[in-house]
Formats: sequence, structure tokens, C-alpha cells
Amino acid sequence: MLKKEFSEVNTYNRPTYCSECGGVMVFKGLGEYQCEKCGFVDYDDYGKARNYVEKHAGANAAEVGKATGVSQKSIRDMLKEGKLEIAKNSVIFLKCEICGALINSGRYCSKCETAYHRDKEEMARKARHHGDTFGFSTERRKGEDGAKRFTRDE
Ligand SMILES: [Zn+2]
Ligand SMILES: [Zn+2]
Repeated sequence: MLKKEFSEVNTYNRPTYCSECGGVMVFKGLGEYQCEKCGFVDYDDYGKARNYVEKHAGANAAEVGKATGVSQKSIRDMLKEGKLEIAKNSVIFLKCEICGALINSGRYCSKCETAYHRDKEEMARKARHHGDTFGFSTERRKGEDGAKRFTRDE
């Protein structure tokens, strides 16, 4: 059971074997791994992003991804999970899940969020007008599925 749970988590590209000698990489903490044979140190996505952010305060998610090779999805996951700690003066951006614009927090940019709510309000008005609440809930599901198509960013 436990194995299944582990396989479902984002492993952030954890290094399994040493790229120098093929030895087993042992987890040291904070995204750092060390080869048990030769002592070579490597990092997973979290370790790479964390190291970069520590040295480059103010870097945004796009810069971190470009410099470290860590995917935007991993960076977003880390931010959402609170794994990645950003210096106070850093500007780490998330992407709007609808239009892809860079945002500071949440899931949508203010434009899309407003449009999203206006859309829902409009549908609610129509549904009420027709006295058809079932139609409203169906429409809402469709809208959410549609929005998902724009979440890919790789
Ligand atoms: Zn090694
Ligand atoms: Zn947007």
C-alpha cells in the first residue's frame, strides 16, 4: 500500500544512481543526495531550485526553470506545497491557469478571474431565467473542463 502512495507523489526527478560511478544516491535532506560509493553530490528539482533561489534572490519562476532545468510544473507544485521558500524580496510567479499570464498568487490572473466570475454569474442568471438549475450545473462542468485545456505549459 505504501509503495503505491510513494509512486504517486511528484519525485522532483530524484537522482537514483550516481552519474559519476553508478553508485546509489542517498538522500541527505533538503533535496540533496550523496553517492554512497564516491561521495558525489547531486540534487533533485527541489534542491536545484532551492540552491538557485538562495543565490539569486528575486529570480522568478521562469528564470529558475531556465537556469536549473527544473520544469515549471515542478516549481509550481513546490510553491503550492510550500516546499520552495522564496526570499521576501523575490518575485516568483505562478501562471494563470486559463490564459497563462504570470501571477503572484492564486490560480487565475485578475482578468480571467473576473471573466470567470462574470461567466458564472451570467450562466446563473440564464439558468434562473429558465428555471433550469440542472442546465446550470451541466454548463458549469463543461466550462471547467474547457479551462483545463490551457493548463499545459511544457
Ligand atoms: Zn558515485
Ligand atoms: Zn488569465
